[in-house]
Amino acid sequence: MSQYLFDPALESFPRDVALQRWSAADGDRDEYFMRMALAEATVAAEEGEIPIGAVLTCRDRVLARDHNRREQLRDPIAHAETLVLRRAAIFYPSWRVEEATLYVTLEPCLMCCGAILQSRVDRLVFGARDPKGGAAVSLYETLSDQRFNWRAEICEGVLQKECSAALVEFFRARRLRKSKA
Ligand SMILES: [Zn+2]
Repeated sequence: MSQYLFDPALESFPRDVALQRWSAADGDRDEYFMRMALAEATVAAEEGEIPIGAVLTCRDRVLARDHNRREQLRDPIAHAETLVLRRAAIFYPSWRVEEATLYVTLEPCLMCCGAILQSRVDRLVFGARDPKGGAAVSLYETLSDQRFNWRAEICEGVLQKECSAALVEFFRARRLRKSKA
């Protein structure tokens, strides 16, 4: 195992997260898990990270939830999506996460779409499009490309306004701090 997997930031992750699950009383399933991803994005912003959160579920249970940690791990690939996919694989019997749905506040980049295909995620749900980096629908359509041996269903626009607002607010506040400095 790589040193990366023993990172304290990852190890401190609550082990009982799998106990979190959706039931009909929680309302719309996709919105329920997207709110969880948004809560992760909020934590990211508080930590000075670009606010993007992700939740990986299987049969209405949370397998993993996390947020962008590029700054704190000094790791260009520590996107919310790669973190949850890797974490779920640690606890899962296989590196594949079958019957899984990945919720993420922003459309995944090319690397994360690659990770989604490699992990065999069934379904991607995202909030806002990323016209400058999105590889699910914006710049590329990697997850529906027939040439790959895996395809994931895509559902976009869940809590889109809230997901965009988190990013817009983060960059607005950062510009303001820089202009004051
Ligand atoms: Zn990414």
